[in-house]
Amino acid sequence: MSFIDEKELQDNLKEVEAKICAACERSGRKREEVTLIAVSKTKPSEMVQTLYNEGVRDFGENKVQEIIAKAPILPKDIKWHMIGHLQRNKVKQVVDKACLIHSVDSLRLAEEIEKEADKHNLVVPILLEVNIAGEESKFGMTKKEALDLVVLLSQFRHIAVKGLMTIAPNVENSEENRPIFHDLKQLSVDIINKNIDNISMDVLSMGMTNDYEVAIEEGATIVRVGTGIFGTRYYG
Ligand SMILES: *Cc1c(COP(=O)(O)O)cnc(C)c1O
Repeated sequence: MSFIDEKELQDNLKEVEAKICAACERSGRKREEVTLIAVSKTKPSEMVQTLYNEGVRDFGENKVQEIIAKAPILPKDIKWHMIGHLQRNKVKQVVDKACLIHSVDSLRLAEEIEKEADKHNLVVPILLEVNIAGEESKFGMTKKEALDLVVLLSQFRHIAVKGLMTIAPNVENSEENRPIFHDLKQLSVDIINKNIDNISMDVLSMGMTNDYEVAIEEGATIVRVGTGIFGTRYYG
C-alpha cells in the first residue's frame, strides 16, 4: 500500500472540480451552489494540507477519532464534516468540532446532541440521514421516520436541521442512482411545504465518487468525494 503523491492529488482535485463544473452547467446551476467535501478518512493530514493549499476548506470524516486527531495539527479554518454513523457516546467529543453532522438517524441520537450542545451553549447544524434505497446494510431513516422526526426536532433549541443526507447504493452505472437522488430532493420539498418552524432544507448532501455528477444534476448542494480525490482507501 502507498498513498498517491502530491501531483496526483492535485490532478485528481482538478478533475473532480472540472466534472462538478460540467454537471452544474448541464443542470443550469451555479458552481457556488455546490460544496465539495473532500472525504479524508484513513488519509494522513499531509494530504489534507496539500488540498488545503489548493483551496479546499471542507473535509469529511466518518470517525470522531480522526477529526480529533487531525483538527489540532491542521489550519483552524478547516470545516470538519461528520459524515459517518455517530454513536451516542461519541457525541460529546464532536459537537463543538464538526461544522455539520450529516448522519442523524434517530430521535435518541438527536436528544444526545441537544443535551451536549446545550452544555456548550451551541446550536449544532445537522442533516437527517435517510436510507432512500432501503438497503438493510445502511444506516438512515425511512422517509416517513424523517418526516415525523423533523416535527419533533423543530422544538430542539440547540439543534438546527439544515437538510438531508443519503448514501446511495454502490452501483455499476451511476444513472441507477438518479431516482434515489430525485427522491431525496422530493422529500426535502415535502418537508419545506410543511412550513415547520426552525427547520431548513437548504442542504442536500448526496453523491460520492461514483455518482456525484448525477447527484448534482438532481439538486445536491454537497457532494462527498473520497476515492476520486485521495485514491483508494486502505484499511487495517
Ligand atoms: C467514505 C464516504 C464517502 C466517500 O466515498 P467515495 O466513494 O470514496 O467517494 C462519502 N460519504 C460517506 C458517508 C462516506 O462514509
